[in-house]
Amino acid sequence: MKSQLIKWSSLLCLTTSSWVLSAQTDNLTMTSTNRVNEVLEQVLTAYGGRDRMTNLNQVKIDFETTTFAVNQSKNPGPPWDENQQKGSTAIDLSQQQFATQNQGITQNFHNGTIINGDQSHQLNWRAQTATPIAEPNFLNTAGPFIRVTPALLVKQLMERSFASHYLGQVDLNGRPHDVLSLVMEVGPAISLYFDQETHLLHQSERFFVGFGLVGYRFHDYQTIDGIPFNRKFELFINEDKNMVRHNVNTTVNQPIDAQLQRPEGLRIVDPLQPDPLQRQTIADGVYLIGGNGTYAMFVDMGDHFIAVGGTAGLADRMRLLREVDADKPIRFGVMTHHHSDHILGAQVYAESGITVISAKAHEAVIQNAISVADAQLETVDKKRVFKGPKRELQVIDVGPTDHSSHLLVAYLPDAGLLFEADHFGLRSPNNIQPANQATQDFAAALKRLGIKAQKIVSAHSPRVSTLEELKQAVQMGQALTQQD
Ligand SMILES: [Zn+2]
Repeated sequence: MKSQLIKWSSLLCLTTSSWVLSAQTDNLTMTSTNRVNEVLEQVLTAYGGRDRMTNLNQVKIDFETTTFAVNQSKNPGPPWDENQQKGSTAIDLSQQQFATQNQGITQNFHNGTIINGDQSHQLNWRAQTATPIAEPNFLNTAGPFIRVTPALLVKQLMERSFASHYLGQVDLNGRPHDVLSLVMEVGPAISLYFDQETHLLHQSERFFVGFGLVGYRFHDYQTIDGIPFNRKFELFINEDKNMVRHNVNTTVNQPIDAQLQRPEGLRIVDPLQPDPLQRQTIADGVYLIGGNGTYAMFVDMGDHFIAVGGTAGLADRMRLLREVDADKPIRFGVMTHHHSDHILGAQVYAESGITVISAKAHEAVIQNAISVADAQLETVDKKRVFKGPKRELQVIDVGPTDHSSHLLVAYLPDAGLLFEADHFGLRSPNNIQPANQATQDFAAALKRLGIKAQKIVSAHSPRVSTLEELKQAVQMGQALTQQD
């Protein structure tokens, strides 16, 4: 047993010699638990003491953010598009109340969320709407804020240290850090890196299977009401910097009632209905299949199908198509653009022997997303017309837009119907929102290219919207721009 423990210790690369020694005399679980308690006491002292952490109840932070659109930029590679936002978040832990809002500076959006029992709402200032949240979830909604606020993480660690482990000691920027695990309510545990000298939190990370490592780095501490708060954090996903946030103003233990008020003038709209996986026939031989925010279109060309869209869950959507026709082959799978959430389907198509169609400019990204040796990939430069015995389908590059330099849409002239991604998805006819720049660019491209679609089908909406609704959204968007 003893030698087994020593072997584990060396496997875990433990560098603190006292820790390794005690592992030989005790067992790993006890050693880890004791070490968690030692580190926690040091950390609590650094964060103003146990009483101060116990009494830490409200936090409000005003911030300015720069985001880097890794794999979500207009072009397929770096440098990634940078955008600026400003916003504020307020939390009351004992009342389980939470309010956050975020406004684009370089993009036009202004959204928020209030979690306050039966007064919980999603807010959209541009659309002037407040959507009631039927089942508000404080922990799920506040989690992202807690995870970027070291003092709140330390408070959670204090409350849940019984479930923590000591993971070891590592050097970060030449300084030794103790690393502890903290079990989260939702998702994988988070690793917390505390400086061994200052005992402040400098880094945290979580690993998601199939997605990767999400890491935060905390900088520029200042003391507010006796508690250290960071002025800055950076978010990394698989080592790529995704976000830098400057905390401009932090207040502690002040009531957050003002933030919890639904802003005056916002119109209450119907809550969004659940959206389970389903198949809809949207025109003769044209099926929209999807649910939970992602959809693909399947077009019966006569002796084969063409599939359009590459978002999550494509295999399930193809299975539902098989209930309509068990045998007719899907010959082509059209990828709308190169963004990470729209290329997941490329592998599914390739595995099924379906020829993948992409914009010429996105060929390398799509090829990279496929690990099938003999995958067929063909590209579209401007436009390609697919003809079947029953009808024709046009795949047209309507880019550039403010969202993507190239964007393939699928247009069915006989049905007057067009499939697009990320530019116009209207979930409810009563909730048309002012078009952002990307949607305005998309509408202008349809006009410029003479595409006469009356119906618009989206990769992110179960509802077929109309050209009239798109025009209305564009008018609303342009009216807002003129006001600015
Ligand atoms: Zn996109």
